[in-house]
Amino acid sequence: MVRTRFAPSPTGYLHVGGIRTALFAWLIARQAKGRFVLRLEDTDKKREVIGADQHIFDSLHALGIDYDEGPDSDGKFGPYKQSQRLDSYKLWAQKLIDIGRAYADPYSPDEVQQFREQAKNYKKPFLYRNHRPENPPKWDGSQPLRFKSDPKLYQWHDEVMGDLSTSPEVIDDFILIKSDGYPTYNFAHIIDDAEMKISHIIRGQEFLASIPNYLNLYEALGIKPPVMATVPHILNEIGNKKLSKRDGAKDVLDYINDGYNAEALVSFIATLGWNDGTKHEIFTRDELINKFDIKRVQRSGARFDEQRLKWVNGSFIRNMELDKLYLSSDTYWPKTANNYDDSYKKKVLDVVQERLKYLGELPKLTNFFFEELPVDLNLINSNKQLNKLPISELVSLLEKSRGTLSSSNFTVDDLTDKLNTLLEKTSQKPAVLFSLIRICTTWAPSSPGLADTLGIIGKEKSLARIDSSIEAIKASS
Ligand code: GLU
Repeated sequence: MVRTRFAPSPTGYLHVGGIRTALFAWLIARQAKGRFVLRLEDTDKKREVIGADQHIFDSLHALGIDYDEGPDSDGKFGPYKQSQRLDSYKLWAQKLIDIGRAYADPYSPDEVQQFREQAKNYKKPFLYRNHRPENPPKWDGSQPLRFKSDPKLYQWHDEVMGDLSTSPEVIDDFILIKSDGYPTYNFAHIIDDAEMKISHIIRGQEFLASIPNYLNLYEALGIKPPVMATVPHILNEIGNKKLSKRDGAKDVLDYINDGYNAEALVSFIATLGWNDGTKHEIFTRDELINKFDIKRVQRSGARFDEQRLKWVNGSFIRNMELDKLYLSSDTYWPKTANNYDDSYKKKVLDVVQERLKYLGELPKLTNFFFEELPVDLNLINSNKQLNKLPISELVSLLEKSRGTLSSSNFTVDDLTDKLNTLLEKTSQKPAVLFSLIRICTTWAPSSPGLADTLGIIGKEKSLARIDSSIEAIKASS
């Protein structure tokens, strides 16, 4: 039975890297019709953030990464929160003590620090086991409990990183249980994965260097290690360092709140460092479940490119049925849209659907359909085609446009005809004439196709806007 898990620490929000690990583990479980487990690793009390656990549940929920067992759902291997499993860790720790593979660390933190500095002075890597006490005291819980390692060479296979090997020097006596009574990640995750019957561990690169130590502990405990897959970091857009908050490593819920589609986010995150062997970049959830293969995850870091996310999301939006898109757009409209009915808003959505990258862009792309934007002559002055024309010419073009448009019934077909007639009449290029009409009927930096736009704004408003634009342009001379 394939059983995978996501094991976040409740120390902050879930960023894209964390979600990607969860998603890979989820895909493996769903593909194999296995189980996906959520376990909260809340043993670092100093770093714990209040509310982070709820935030983790919400983020997974928002992306449709459902878990079969977890702290807030059922399962027969619970509890699924490490702080509630302390008895279990004590039991296993006692087993290690009994077989002579764990001992109380008698040193104070200052003393350990001195050992560290000594090693540094000798330019040698620090190894605690070089200071292993000959007669350690009996462990009473007030000292850290350390693993008595058995350094040796390891060779193992990682599903992503391939065949790996390390020498005995990397193995040390690490802490199993801290003096505050909580286990370390290094110890707890091994016990939990075994007790929860986890078959595959998918986790981030930061744990790779510790795996030989884990293998040593698995051996001492007589536990068969699960299949391991170590996924590389997500890098910033340039690809020269790990993605950080500063590079836009946003909380995934922020993307949801900005109006990104969960399916698009899932597709984008799954393809951060994974492909199906073709150039395909967009996948539905079912396609991902069918095609995902952890062995095809690349070993080097994947670049986080927000432009690509926008492109992927835009593609999902374009392919959505208008009614469905409209339903999901509810909270994103500009405030002024409240005065308009569903059918008007749907028409607006229909004409911007093609260009919309995420719903949070709706106000910027559609405000002029709902309100009068202030005249902004900069839009004309900064337009390379228009700023060459004298004001008299701009005014004359607008007057001719008004004349011709006033005989239109403002259906898109008729507007298209009339606009073409105007091109002939004025002997102007579309880039000049249509830009001018567009700017003077919207006062926005961009809009959908001109006939579509005018058709929605309607005859009365369009002509009135041209009139006031003519006044404003004249007044500017
Ligand atoms: N609690 C660890 C973390 O949040 C999880 C590592 C793992 O997946 O095993 O970084």
